[in-house]
Amino acid sequence: MTADDYICHMQKVGILGGGQLGRMLLQAAANYPVETFVLENDAECPSAHLCDHFTKGDIRSFDAVYQFGKGLDAITIEIENVNTEALEKLESEGVKVFPKPSVLKTIRNKILQKKYYADNSIPSPAYIVTDNLAALQQQSDFLPAVHKIGEGGYDGKGVQVLRKPEDITKGFDAPSVLEKMVDIDKEIAQMVAVSSTGEIALYPPVEMLFDHSLNLLDFQLCPATINEKTLWKVEAIAVQVVKNFKSPGIFAIELFVDRSGAVLVNETAPRVHNSGHHTIEAHFSSQFDMLWRIILGFPLGNTDAILPSVMVNVIGAEGYSGKVKYEGLEEVLGIDNAFVHLYGKKATKPGRKMGHVTVLSKEKQELIHQANKIKSLLSVQSTSD
Ligand code: ADP
Repeated sequence: MTADDYICHMQKVGILGGGQLGRMLLQAAANYPVETFVLENDAECPSAHLCDHFTKGDIRSFDAVYQFGKGLDAITIEIENVNTEALEKLESEGVKVFPKPSVLKTIRNKILQKKYYADNSIPSPAYIVTDNLAALQQQSDFLPAVHKIGEGGYDGKGVQVLRKPEDITKGFDAPSVLEKMVDIDKEIAQMVAVSSTGEIALYPPVEMLFDHSLNLLDFQLCPATINEKTLWKVEAIAVQVVKNFKSPGIFAIELFVDRSGAVLVNETAPRVHNSGHHTIEAHFSSQFDMLWRIILGFPLGNTDAILPSVMVNVIGAEGYSGKVKYEGLEEVLGIDNAFVHLYGKKATKPGRKMGHVTVLSKEKQELIHQANKIKSLLSVQSTSD
């Protein structure tokens, strides 16, 4: 087989989930010899009209995932909450799965994820497991702490801060992790790419700044402003996390730097991630481009930044629900080096991720200035009709 034969072989690749991550993955797919398939329950989801083949179905159902995956060359995910038994069967039948189902099983349960860090000597906040509210009530000596539900939490919805014993009633009456409160200096995210042959490429880490009222990311700077020693720790820990998974794929590792300079893993996502959106314009190979290279067996891309960047999430404004209307879009599009991504969601609601904007500049002060300007200009509202 010559190199040209190889390039011409169109691989059939499926994506489980049809949200914005799938949509941006499909945008990058257009550059490659790949035929794309999406499985998702909502036929009007952000990915529905960008893939070659759309299948309406439940990504949590064994039959739906198995039928969808049979006959594909490879399958990947844009959300962890998928049927892993079906993925294991597909894997045993020769479909390549990115990441491996074993990784998904470890990561999507916070109790197993914390155990994985402990078993592999990966620094992460100290924790205990609580099976129910009665068990949590016995742990007031462990406070202040953060209670995290084992399965089913996302975007802060499965997380409760418990500062004092009176807060315990806010905890979860289900198997959960109770994690020591960290005195956070910075929140960092490190994207890592792992090829099928075990090669690793690291993106520069980003620094996240949060809107604590909504528990959602406010904006994100790349590169993170951390000293060299902290950078080395972040990189070494990130490599340690992915190496032990023994799985190709793209990984987002969220870390805390505490006020003593210690670096601790908060959590890992084994997929393309919100903290890699800026890589579309700001890096030579974006996280989406990179995942296609990994799936299709091509060399890893260049993770270097073309320029420093800031990324602002565009979130549904408080008080507006229904058919979406964007205020201030023209002004934002008029900003130099601002790149707007709208996810094509038909309806908005408070706090919903509707898009993001990336700005590139050599100057960090300019990036922060533009991020604040975008936040004040752009608002996601709804039409009255
Ligand atoms: P989710 O997966 O829902 O985003 P996280 O585990 O990332 O939940 O927690 C959400 C936020 O809560 C974090 O970004 C951080 O600001 C805060 N947080 C989580 N764990 C701790 C901790 N152990 N100590 C202090 N703050 C924490």
